[in-house]
Amino acid sequence: MDETTKKQPSADAKSALIAQNCSVIRAEATADELQTIHKIDVLASEQDISLSFLKELLSLPKNNAVKYLHAKARQAVENVYGDKIFLRGLVEITSFCRNNCNYCGIRRSNRTLERYRMTPETIMACCQDGYKYGMRTFVLQGGEDMWWTDERLGDLVSQIRAEYPDCAITLSMGERPRESYQRLFDLGANRYLLRHETADEQHYHYLHPEEMSFQNRMQCLQWLKEIGYQVGCGFMVGSPGQTPETIFKDLQFIRSFRPQMVGIGPFVATQHTPFADEPNGSVETTLRLLSTIRLLHPHVLLPSTTALGSLHPLGRELGILAGANVLMPNLSPVENRELYNIYDNKICLGDGIDHCYDCLSARMESTSRRIVVERGDFVG
Ligand code: SAM
Repeated sequence: MDETTKKQPSADAKSALIAQNCSVIRAEATADELQTIHKIDVLASEQDISLSFLKELLSLPKNNAVKYLHAKARQAVENVYGDKIFLRGLVEITSFCRNNCNYCGIRRSNRTLERYRMTPETIMACCQDGYKYGMRTFVLQGGEDMWWTDERLGDLVSQIRAEYPDCAITLSMGERPRESYQRLFDLGANRYLLRHETADEQHYHYLHPEEMSFQNRMQCLQWLKEIGYQVGCGFMVGSPGQTPETIFKDLQFIRSFRPQMVGIGPFVATQHTPFADEPNGSVETTLRLLSTIRLLHPHVLLPSTTALGSLHPLGRELGILAGANVLMPNLSPVENRELYNIYDNKICLGDGIDHCYDCLSARMESTSRRIVVERGDFVG
């Protein structure tokens, strides 16, 4: 495989184009739009936002100010990471989960779901496929499945570390004791994704059953950071009970926690969950929040999620154009994908990595950014 998918214009030429695009948007803006554009410039330079401006951004019609928000976010990401898009190969290693989150299709009490656990051999084969297609990060994700003891998960991490010394290993296996996180880190895991889900305690309790603890979620994130992982937090956009006030708390949490990664995607209503009849989250709001997060924390690694692609045919392209810089193609065997049904109508269920890679590369051409063969570590 070549280092990049295609020959593209230079990064300097692209950033000049974005700057020109911002000027064109300003020139076409009405007086009202210019006022909002001014506030977006302040947000970008101060890396802070007020609740009232957040409410304004979320309620604007699609106008020149929104276009400007996305263009500024593109400029911000390109200033740090150039035109690169990083791939993370996702391996969904288990669909067993001890938790009963009200939004999630693999919640413990969903008895309609056939559960699976991949063998280490299958997981290694997924990594092999991913490596062949340019992935230099493997994300091992699953429900909170205690079958994956420290010993079993540790053996797997050690094996991947030994076979792929040039790759990052990301874990996303939920809440575990501090010693467990430490042990896995010592064996070679580099990153950990644990969405905080919401920074508002009351909202957290609306989304989760009583036995789950907001404090423990936040404590885990803190431990992960102290141990030295590159840490990803995040939340669903449009989750039931979410308000501009709770989103404001999420943004303030991101500003103070300074995670290396933030995963946000729209909430997707899912059968056999208490929230099955709730409305889906909005793609438009997700895009505005991606741009806002990019401007608040320009160095952050920000995926354009599969959930976004599941609710809009061009969702992942739009996410990249709103300031995201990571894609997470699925390396799981096709027969497992439908069973890892965290939400309904997920895309790419039947596509092997060869097809996914070609499809994503073709899709990204429209964004004038390029998929690269790199680990894509946090810069800064
Ligand atoms: N067990 C790990 C954890 O708790 O972090 C990782 C797996 S969990 C299924 C991954 C993420 O999927 C959650 O953090 C949640 O934000 C997202 N998710 C679950 N159900 C969803 C839904 N209905 N719509 C959109 N995202 C969902």
